[in-house]
Amino acid sequence: MAEHADVPPETGPGAPRQATAAHAGAPLETGPGTPGSAGWTGGPQARSDTGAPGGGPGPDGEMPRGAVSAPPTAGGVGAADVRAMQAALDEARRAVGHGDVPVGAVVVVDGQVVAARHNEREATGDPTAHAELLALRDAAAVVGSWRLTGATLVATLEPCPMCAGAAVAARVSRVVFGAADPKAGACGSLYNLCADPRLNHEMPVEAGVLAEEATELLVGFFADRRSG
Ligand SMILES: [Zn+2]
Repeated sequence: MAEHADVPPETGPGAPRQATAAHAGAPLETGPGTPGSAGWTGGPQARSDTGAPGGGPGPDGEMPRGAVSAPPTAGGVGAADVRAMQAALDEARRAVGHGDVPVGAVVVVDGQVVAARHNEREATGDPTAHAELLALRDAAAVVGSWRLTGATLVATLEPCPMCAGAAVAARVSRVVFGAADPKAGACGSLYNLCADPRLNHEMPVEAGVLAEEATELLVGFFADRRSG
């Protein structure tokens, strides 16, 4: 379970490009007719065990790669991401208590949430107090290293350039986010700092996990603010 916690190829509707990346390192080896990751271009560098035949059987047969745009099966491979996202959403709701935009983030290591934070920009007056950055800092403290290889950053909103940059700096292995952010998103919307070969680290991105919940939270927050 732990070994595969960060590989479920949940296929969000908005990100076919990244959905393929999310399959890197997933149990492709078990798929009929798709041995290993030969010819796979979706960012295998993010996983050290790419192509390793002994990587384990994976949760099930997995959909063939031609079907990456198909909806995930119920209770299937996206379950770990969904659970982590629910924790991130819980964090996001806490931000509202101090007037901050409800964005939450957790860091998952070996299938466990090791850090969970929410946006504290207003609460602290710190322009860098984004949920993702705070969660990465906490995770590094827990792990005992700035290097978070193997970790998954899960955020309710697409990380901004600062936070995506922090994920790169931390060598995070994977990023999962909920709602896309067309105004500031740096994991596919405006930029993709997670998949830029000019940078010294790349990682697959899974977009659109529980995106509706994340969006509802944000829309509700701004609607309340306008009416209040
Ligand atoms: Zn940010």
